[in-house]
Amino acid sequence: MDNLALLDLLEEQGRLERQQWVQLISTYTPEDSEAAAVKARAVAQSRFGRDIFFRGIVEISNYCRNDCYYCGIRRGNRKVARYRLSKEEILECCAEGYAAGFRTFVLQGGEDVHFTDQVMIDIVSAISGTYPECAITLSLGERSRESYQALYDAGARRYLLRHETADAAHYGLLHPAELSWQHRMDCLRELKDIGYQTGCGMMVGAPFQTADHLASDMMFMAEFKPQMIGTGPFLPHQDTPFRDQPAGSVELTLFLLSLCRLMLPDVLLPATTALGTARGNGRLMGVLHGANVIMPNLSPLSQRRKYMLYDNKPREERSAEDSIAARDADLHTIGYRLRQGRGDYQGRN
Ligand code: SAH
Repeated sequence: MDNLALLDLLEEQGRLERQQWVQLISTYTPEDSEAAAVKARAVAQSRFGRDIFFRGIVEISNYCRNDCYYCGIRRGNRKVARYRLSKEEILECCAEGYAAGFRTFVLQGGEDVHFTDQVMIDIVSAISGTYPECAITLSLGERSRESYQALYDAGARRYLLRHETADAAHYGLLHPAELSWQHRMDCLRELKDIGYQTGCGMMVGAPFQTADHLASDMMFMAEFKPQMIGTGPFLPHQDTPFRDQPAGSVELTLFLLSLCRLMLPDVLLPATTALGTARGNGRLMGVLHGANVIMPNLSPLSQRRKYMLYDNKPREERSAEDSIAARDADLHTIGYRLRQGRGDYQGRN
Protein backbone atom coordinates (compact mmCIF):
# COMPACT_ATOMS: atom_id res chain seq x y z
CA MET A 1 0.00 0.00 0.00
CA ASP A 2 1.44 3.42 -0.79
CA ASN A 3 1.87 6.10 1.88
CA LEU A 4 -1.15 8.14 0.81
CA ALA A 5 -3.32 5.05 1.11
CA LEU A 6 -1.85 4.44 4.57
CA LEU A 7 -2.87 7.96 5.62
CA ASP A 8 -6.43 7.25 4.44
CA LEU A 9 -6.41 3.99 6.35
CA LEU A 10 -5.11 5.69 9.51
CA GLU A 11 -7.81 8.33 9.32
CA GLU A 12 -10.46 5.66 8.76
CA GLN A 13 -9.56 3.21 11.49
CA GLY A 14 -7.39 5.20 13.92
CA ARG A 15 -4.59 2.65 13.89
CA LEU A 16 -2.08 0.89 11.67
CA GLU A 17 -0.02 -2.29 11.83
CA ARG A 18 3.59 -2.06 12.95
CA GLN A 19 4.95 -2.56 9.44
CA GLN A 20 2.67 0.17 8.11
CA TRP A 21 3.90 2.64 10.74
CA VAL A 22 7.50 1.76 9.98
CA GLN A 23 6.89 2.29 6.27
CA LEU A 24 5.26 5.70 6.79
CA ILE A 25 7.91 6.91 9.21
CA SER A 26 10.90 5.70 7.23
CA THR A 27 9.79 6.44 3.64
CA TYR A 28 7.57 9.56 3.84
CA THR A 29 8.24 12.30 1.31
CA PRO A 30 7.56 16.04 1.64
CA GLU A 31 4.42 15.42 -0.44
CA ASP A 32 3.24 12.73 2.00
CA SER A 33 3.84 15.09 4.90
CA GLU A 34 1.89 17.85 3.20
CA ALA A 35 -0.98 15.44 2.49
CA ALA A 36 -0.95 14.38 6.16
CA ALA A 37 -0.93 18.03 7.25
CA VAL A 38 -3.92 18.87 5.06
CA LYS A 39 -5.90 15.99 6.53
CA ALA A 40 -4.74 16.72 10.09
CA ARG A 41 -5.72 20.38 9.81
CA ALA A 42 -9.14 19.40 8.54
CA VAL A 43 -9.62 17.02 11.46
CA ALA A 44 -8.43 19.62 13.97
CA GLN A 45 -10.68 22.28 12.45
CA SER A 46 -13.67 19.94 12.59
CA ARG A 47 -13.11 19.69 16.38
CA PHE A 48 -11.66 23.07 17.37
CA GLY A 49 -12.27 25.40 14.45
CA ARG A 50 -9.30 27.70 13.99
CA ASP A 51 -9.01 28.22 17.72
CA ILE A 52 -5.83 27.43 19.62
CA PHE A 53 -5.94 26.86 23.37
CA PHE A 54 -3.20 28.34 25.49
CA ARG A 55 -1.82 27.05 28.79
CA GLY A 56 0.62 28.80 31.07
CA ILE A 57 3.64 26.79 32.20
CA VAL A 58 5.06 27.61 35.60
CA GLU A 59 8.43 25.92 36.01
CA ILE A 60 8.32 25.43 39.76
CA SER A 61 11.74 23.86 40.33
CA ASN A 62 14.86 22.77 38.49
CA TYR A 63 16.02 20.51 41.30
CA CYS A 64 15.79 16.91 40.18
CA ARG A 65 16.66 13.60 41.79
CA ASN A 66 16.90 11.90 38.39
CA ASP A 67 19.78 11.71 35.97
CA CYS A 68 18.13 11.32 32.55
CA TYR A 69 20.91 11.44 29.96
CA TYR A 70 19.15 13.96 27.71
CA CYS A 71 17.96 16.50 30.23
CA GLY A 72 19.79 19.71 31.11
CA ILE A 73 18.51 19.81 34.69
CA ARG A 74 19.59 16.25 35.48
CA ARG A 75 20.96 15.66 38.95
CA GLY A 76 24.49 15.17 37.63
CA ASN A 77 24.70 18.60 35.98
CA ARG A 78 26.74 20.60 38.46
CA LYS A 79 26.63 23.74 36.34
CA VAL A 80 22.94 24.41 36.88
CA ALA A 81 22.04 27.21 39.28
CA ARG A 82 19.22 25.52 41.14
CA TYR A 83 16.02 27.26 42.21
CA ARG A 84 12.58 26.41 43.43
CA LEU A 85 9.56 28.68 43.63
CA SER A 86 7.69 29.29 46.85
CA LYS A 87 3.94 28.90 47.07
CA GLU A 88 3.65 32.69 47.00
CA GLU A 89 5.77 32.95 43.86
CA ILE A 90 3.72 30.25 42.12
CA LEU A 91 0.51 32.06 43.03
CA GLU A 92 1.95 35.30 41.67
CA CYS A 93 2.65 33.59 38.35
CA CYS A 94 -0.93 32.35 38.28
CA ALA A 95 -2.25 35.83 39.12
CA GLU A 96 -0.29 37.37 36.26
CA GLY A 97 -1.46 34.61 33.95
CA TYR A 98 -5.06 34.90 35.03
CA ALA A 99 -5.05 38.64 34.34
CA ALA A 100 -3.68 37.94 30.86
CA GLY A 101 -6.46 35.45 30.18
CA PHE A 102 -4.91 32.08 31.02
CA ARG A 103 -7.39 29.52 32.32
CA THR A 104 -5.03 26.54 32.58
CA PHE A 105 -1.94 26.51 34.76
CA VAL A 106 0.68 23.83 34.20
CA LEU A 107 3.02 23.30 37.13
CA GLN A 108 6.12 21.58 35.81
CA GLY A 109 9.39 20.73 37.46
CA GLY A 110 12.16 18.30 38.06
CA GLU A 111 11.46 15.59 40.62
CA ASP A 112 12.24 17.83 43.56
CA VAL A 113 11.91 16.05 46.91
CA HIS A 114 10.98 19.38 48.51
CA PHE A 115 7.58 19.14 46.84
CA THR A 116 6.15 16.46 49.09
CA ASP A 117 2.47 15.61 48.92
CA GLN A 118 1.77 17.97 51.78
CA VAL A 119 3.55 20.88 50.09
CA MET A 120 1.93 20.21 46.71
CA ILE A 121 -1.55 19.70 48.14
CA ASP A 122 -1.27 23.08 49.81
CA ILE A 123 -0.23 24.74 46.53
CA VAL A 124 -2.83 22.98 44.37
CA SER A 125 -5.62 23.73 46.85
CA ALA A 126 -4.62 27.38 46.97
CA ILE A 127 -4.72 27.69 43.18
CA SER A 128 -8.00 25.83 42.82
CA GLY A 129 -9.52 27.84 45.67
CA THR A 130 -8.44 31.14 44.13
CA TYR A 131 -9.29 30.22 40.53
CA PRO A 132 -12.11 27.68 40.66
CA GLU A 133 -12.81 28.04 36.94
CA CYS A 134 -9.22 27.28 35.94
CA ALA A 135 -7.73 23.89 35.17
CA ILE A 136 -4.62 22.77 37.02
CA THR A 137 -2.21 20.53 35.15
CA LEU A 138 0.74 18.90 36.88
CA SER A 139 3.95 17.69 35.27
CA LEU A 140 6.07 16.58 38.19
CA GLY A 141 7.26 13.19 37.05
CA GLU A 142 6.77 9.85 38.74
CA ARG A 143 4.98 9.77 42.08
CA SER A 144 3.01 7.14 43.98
CA ARG A 145 -0.58 6.36 43.18
CA GLU A 146 -1.56 7.76 46.57
CA SER A 147 0.21 10.98 45.74
CA TYR A 148 -1.50 11.30 42.36
CA GLN A 149 -4.84 10.62 44.05
CA ALA A 150 -4.23 13.19 46.79
CA LEU A 151 -3.30 15.85 44.22
CA TYR A 152 -6.39 15.02 42.21
CA ASP A 153 -8.47 15.39 45.36
CA ALA A 154 -6.82 18.76 45.94
CA GLY A 155 -8.05 19.94 42.54
CA ALA A 156 -5.54 18.94 39.86
CA ARG A 157 -7.32 17.51 36.82
CA ARG A 158 -4.60 16.95 34.21
CA TYR A 159 -1.18 15.37 34.31
CA LEU A 160 1.58 15.38 31.72
CA LEU A 161 4.04 12.51 31.95
CA ARG A 162 5.73 11.74 28.68
CA HIS A 163 6.42 8.06 28.28
CA GLU A 164 9.60 9.19 26.39
CA THR A 165 9.77 5.92 24.44
CA ALA A 166 7.45 2.92 24.30
CA ASP A 167 10.38 0.56 23.84
CA ALA A 168 11.81 -0.68 27.14
CA ALA A 169 15.29 -1.34 25.73
CA HIS A 170 15.40 2.12 24.16
CA TYR A 171 14.27 3.61 27.48
CA GLY A 172 17.28 1.93 29.05
CA LEU A 173 19.60 3.79 26.65
CA LEU A 174 18.16 7.18 27.64
CA HIS A 175 18.03 6.70 31.41
CA PRO A 176 20.22 5.32 34.17
CA ALA A 177 19.43 1.84 35.44
CA GLU A 178 17.58 3.08 38.54
CA LEU A 179 14.80 4.47 36.34
CA SER A 180 12.30 1.93 35.14
CA TRP A 181 10.29 2.00 31.92
CA GLN A 182 7.72 -0.26 33.53
CA HIS A 183 7.27 2.11 36.44
CA ARG A 184 6.74 5.09 34.16
CA MET A 185 4.15 3.16 32.17
CA ASP A 186 2.46 2.08 35.42
CA CYS A 187 2.29 5.73 36.51
CA LEU A 188 0.56 6.66 33.25
CA ARG A 189 -2.07 3.97 33.72
CA GLU A 190 -2.64 5.01 37.33
CA LEU A 191 -3.10 8.64 36.34
CA LYS A 192 -5.69 7.73 33.75
CA ASP A 193 -7.37 5.36 36.12
CA ILE A 194 -7.70 8.07 38.80
CA GLY A 195 -9.47 10.26 36.27
CA TYR A 196 -6.81 12.72 35.18
CA GLN A 197 -6.81 13.93 31.61
CA THR A 198 -3.46 12.33 30.94
CA GLY A 199 -0.71 13.32 28.53
CA CYS A 200 2.09 11.10 27.30
CA GLY A 201 4.54 11.60 24.46
CA MET A 202 8.03 11.02 23.12
CA MET A 203 11.04 12.98 21.99
CA VAL A 204 11.42 12.75 18.23
CA GLY A 205 14.94 11.87 17.17
CA ALA A 206 16.06 10.91 20.67
CA PRO A 207 19.48 9.24 20.54
CA PHE A 208 19.35 5.63 19.26
CA GLN A 209 15.72 5.99 18.17
CA THR A 210 14.63 3.93 15.16
CA ALA A 211 11.48 3.94 13.01
CA ASP A 212 10.52 0.77 14.82
CA HIS A 213 10.66 2.58 18.18
CA LEU A 214 8.43 5.34 16.83
CA ALA A 215 6.05 2.67 15.51
CA SER A 216 5.92 1.34 19.08
CA ASP A 217 5.15 4.85 20.34
CA MET A 218 2.24 5.21 17.92
CA MET A 219 0.91 1.74 18.72
CA PHE A 220 1.17 2.41 22.45
CA MET A 221 -0.72 5.68 22.08
CA ALA A 222 -3.40 4.06 19.87
CA GLU A 223 -4.06 1.67 22.72
CA PHE A 224 -3.53 4.04 25.68
CA LYS A 225 -5.63 6.83 24.16
CA PRO A 226 -4.07 9.76 26.01
CA GLN A 227 -6.13 12.95 26.21
CA MET A 228 -2.96 14.95 25.47
CA ILE A 229 0.25 14.23 23.57
CA GLY A 230 3.39 16.26 24.18
CA THR A 231 6.00 15.64 21.55
CA GLY A 232 8.89 17.68 20.21
CA PRO A 233 12.33 17.14 18.74
CA PHE A 234 15.17 15.99 20.96
CA LEU A 235 17.60 18.89 21.35
CA PRO A 236 21.05 18.34 22.86
CA HIS A 237 22.19 20.14 25.99
CA GLN A 238 25.88 20.92 26.31
CA ASP A 239 26.23 19.70 29.89
CA THR A 240 24.68 16.25 29.41
CA PRO A 241 26.06 12.92 28.18
CA PHE A 242 24.12 13.52 24.93
CA ARG A 243 25.85 16.83 24.17
CA ASP A 244 27.23 15.54 20.86
CA GLN A 245 24.09 13.79 19.67
CA PRO A 246 22.30 15.30 16.68
CA ALA A 247 19.02 17.13 17.23
CA GLY A 248 15.81 15.43 16.15
CA SER A 249 14.28 16.34 12.80
CA VAL A 250 11.72 19.13 12.67
CA GLU A 251 10.19 17.59 9.53
CA LEU A 252 9.68 14.25 11.22
CA THR A 253 8.23 15.95 14.31
CA LEU A 254 5.71 17.80 12.14
CA PHE A 255 4.79 14.64 10.25
CA LEU A 256 4.28 12.77 13.53
CA LEU A 257 2.07 15.58 14.87
CA SER A 258 -0.17 15.05 11.84
CA LEU A 259 -0.20 11.29 12.39
CA CYS A 260 -1.14 11.81 16.06
CA ARG A 261 -4.01 14.07 15.04
CA LEU A 262 -5.28 11.51 12.47
CA MET A 263 -4.98 8.68 14.99
CA LEU A 264 -6.64 10.51 17.91
CA PRO A 265 -8.86 13.25 16.44
CA ASP A 266 -9.86 14.77 19.79
CA VAL A 267 -6.42 14.74 21.38
CA LEU A 268 -5.08 17.99 22.85
CA LEU A 269 -1.86 18.41 20.94
CA PRO A 270 0.57 21.21 21.76
CA ALA A 271 3.02 22.76 19.34
CA THR A 272 5.83 22.47 21.89
CA THR A 273 8.55 24.81 23.06
CA ALA A 274 11.18 22.40 21.70
CA LEU A 275 9.61 22.64 18.26
CA GLY A 276 9.65 26.43 18.51
CA THR A 277 13.28 26.30 19.63
CA ALA A 278 14.39 24.04 16.79
CA ARG A 279 12.84 26.33 14.19
CA GLY A 280 11.76 29.95 14.47
CA ASN A 281 8.29 29.37 13.08
CA GLY A 282 8.10 25.83 14.48
CA ARG A 283 5.01 26.41 16.57
CA LEU A 284 3.05 27.87 13.68
CA MET A 285 4.17 24.96 11.53
CA GLY A 286 2.95 22.69 14.32
CA VAL A 287 -0.49 24.27 14.13
CA LEU A 288 -0.48 23.81 10.38
CA HIS A 289 0.28 20.12 10.97
CA GLY A 290 -2.63 19.56 13.35
CA ALA A 291 -1.58 20.93 16.76
CA ASN A 292 -4.24 22.88 18.70
CA VAL A 293 -2.50 24.04 21.90
CA ILE A 294 0.39 26.32 22.77
CA MET A 295 1.98 26.63 26.17
CA PRO A 296 3.59 30.00 26.86
CA ASN A 297 5.90 30.38 29.82
CA LEU A 298 4.56 31.98 32.99
CA SER A 299 7.66 31.41 35.13
CA PRO A 300 9.24 34.42 36.82
CA LEU A 301 11.53 36.14 34.30
CA SER A 302 14.42 36.02 36.77
CA GLN A 303 14.38 32.19 36.85
CA ARG A 304 13.65 31.33 33.24
CA ARG A 305 17.22 30.88 32.11
CA LYS A 306 17.72 28.27 34.82
CA TYR A 307 15.09 25.87 33.47
CA MET A 308 17.19 24.79 30.50
CA LEU A 309 16.19 21.30 29.46
CA TYR A 310 18.13 21.75 26.19
CA ASP A 311 20.39 24.37 24.64
CA ASN A 312 18.95 27.63 23.26
CA LYS A 313 15.58 27.30 24.96
CA PRO A 314 14.17 30.77 24.39
CA ARG A 315 13.96 32.90 27.46
CA GLU A 316 11.23 35.17 26.29
CA GLU A 317 11.55 38.40 28.20
CA ARG A 318 7.88 39.12 28.01
CA SER A 319 5.06 39.48 30.44
CA ALA A 320 2.18 37.03 30.21
CA GLU A 321 0.01 39.64 28.58
CA ASP A 322 2.58 40.61 25.96
CA SER A 323 3.33 37.02 25.09
CA ILE A 324 -0.35 36.29 24.60
CA ALA A 325 -0.73 39.29 22.31
CA ALA A 326 2.36 38.27 20.32
CA ARG A 327 1.23 34.64 19.95
CA ASP A 328 -2.22 35.74 18.88
CA ALA A 329 -0.75 38.07 16.28
CA ASP A 330 1.47 35.25 14.96
CA LEU A 331 -1.50 32.92 14.72
CA HIS A 332 -3.49 35.51 12.79
CA THR A 333 -0.86 35.40 10.05
CA ILE A 334 -1.92 31.80 9.33
CA GLY A 335 -5.63 32.37 9.89
CA TYR A 336 -5.86 31.06 13.47
CA ARG A 337 -6.41 32.76 16.83
CA LEU A 338 -6.01 32.11 20.53
CA ARG A 339 -9.07 30.94 22.36
CA GLN A 340 -9.54 31.67 26.04
CA GLY A 341 -10.93 28.94 28.27
CA ARG A 342 -9.97 25.76 30.08
CA GLY A 343 -10.00 23.77 26.87
CA ASP A 344 -10.81 20.42 28.43
CA TYR A 345 -10.67 17.21 26.46
CA GLN A 346 -13.98 16.72 24.68
CA GLY A 347 -13.67 13.21 23.31
CA ARG A 348 -14.90 10.00 24.83
CA ASN A 349 -12.00 9.04 27.07
N1 SAH B 1 10.29 15.91 35.51
C1 SAH B 1 9.06 15.90 34.73
C2 SAH B 1 9.05 16.97 33.67
C3 SAH B 1 10.10 16.72 32.65
S1 SAH B 1 10.46 18.04 31.55
C4 SAH B 1 8.88 14.52 34.16
O1 SAH B 1 9.70 13.65 34.40
O2 SAH B 1 7.89 14.28 33.51
C5 SAH B 1 9.29 17.71 30.27
C6 SAH B 1 9.80 16.98 29.06
O3 SAH B 1 10.86 17.66 28.42
C7 SAH B 1 10.39 15.61 29.31
O4 SAH B 1 9.39 14.67 29.52
C8 SAH B 1 11.18 15.36 28.03
O5 SAH B 1 10.41 14.64 27.07
C9 SAH B 1 11.45 16.77 27.52
N2 SAH B 1 12.89 17.00 27.43
C10 SAH B 1 13.81 16.90 28.41
N3 SAH B 1 15.05 17.10 27.92
C11 SAH B 1 14.92 17.33 26.60
C12 SAH B 1 15.83 17.59 25.53
N4 SAH B 1 17.14 17.62 25.74
N5 SAH B 1 15.33 17.78 24.30
C13 SAH B 1 14.00 17.75 24.08
N6 SAH B 1 13.10 17.50 25.03
C14 SAH B 1 13.55 17.28 26.28
